Amino acid sequence: MTTPDPSTQPTVLVTGGCGFIGSAVVRLLIDETDARVINLDKLTYAACTDSVARAAQSERYSFVQADVADGEAIQEIFATHRPTIVMHLAAESHVDRSIEGPGAFVKTNIDGTFQMLQAARTAWEANPDFRFLHVSTDEVFGDLGPTGLFDETTPYQPSSPYSASKAGADHLVRAWHRTYGLPAIITNCSNNYGLCQFPEKLVPLMIIRALHRLSLPIYGTGLQIRDWLHVEDHARALWTAAIRGEPGREYLVGGDSERTNMAVVHEICRILDEMRPDAAPHTDLITHVADRPGHDQRYAIDASRIKAELGWKARWTFETGLETTVRWYVDNQAWWEPLLDRHPTGRRGLLKQ
Ligand code: NAD
Repeated sequence: MTTPDPSTQPTVLVTGGCGFIGSAVVRLLIDETDARVINLDKLTYAACTDSVARAAQSERYSFVQADVADGEAIQEIFATHRPTIVMHLAAESHVDRSIEGPGAFVKTNIDGTFQMLQAARTAWEANPDFRFLHVSTDEVFGDLGPTGLFDETTPYQPSSPYSASKAGADHLVRAWHRTYGLPAIITNCSNNYGLCQFPEKLVPLMIIRALHRLSLPIYGTGLQIRDWLHVEDHARALWTAAIRGEPGREYLVGGDSERTNMAVVHEICRILDEMRPDAAPHTDLITHVADRPGHDQRYAIDASRIKAELGWKARWTFETGLETTVRWYVDNQAWWEPLLDRHPTGRRGLLKQ
């Protein structure tokens, strides 16, 4: 296994570094490594520059606004900044939006990854230690059924336009490794939760609606199972895979924390009941709405490879992580309040009864 030379300071290009997971990666790199960090982000509705405000004060941090699907701009950014490691997270990421408007998902997730790979080839030709980490999702594997776990041998069977576009990107990355030898590594992670997640996703949406005493809408029965991982544990896994992973290899990342959506919402309600007993019980707000089309029933990850081969393991338990997350949203209304207006129908889109 070739690892980057530790005696040279890495220059890490993070795409999507103003998003939920990308911002956790940027904070980790600035706080816990000596890497120079270039945050490349188009600043779509899902971006929040406040999430990296403290990291941005570091002299090792720089920001460039660009679209990963703009090949010329990407080539220029590579030529200017000469990254030694790329961590490619930029993506359209919300399944519901992919059902309503799949075009943006194909453009950013597939074409954008293609443009990044082409620029990466040039960077690798100039630097044999160059590495490309492609950040993907367990959703590419589709519906798992009631038993078993996804692992690195599970065939791809995506269900939604989002997961299909991520699967397409993963295939490009594998082909660029196989055909051109590009030192690329792929990670497929389960559902993340934690601070700085855009309010349209399940955990922040439920917390924010509960704080407004609005209904907590659950898709279908709410018995869909996801394997939850704290975003800081994911960020650590990504950095571990970027520097220690074997090129051409995939690593699945998960938290061994399978929960139904209903159980997650009940836990959020329990935590809020303790924090705000005057508004308890928050479970009274739960309602059921028509299920999402093509909704997968269960995802769960066998993360033994990244644990055994790269020494990664999750630090957060789901219970402590979720409690900390709920408290963060309660204490940081100034972070999420302005984001509510970015919903296509304005804040009413997220906060309508
Ligand atoms: P996010 O939607 O919170 O953030 C995406 C970021 O990418 C935003 O800052 C946005 O401005 C940027 N972006 C979007 N299109 C772009 C473009 N064309 N050019 C440049 N920047 C662009 O997403 P997230 O939840 O942080 O997910 C990050 C990555 O991790 C994605 O690739 C996603 O598929 C993957 N992933 C997410 C989860 C999860 O639970 N959220 C789980 C596994 C994998």
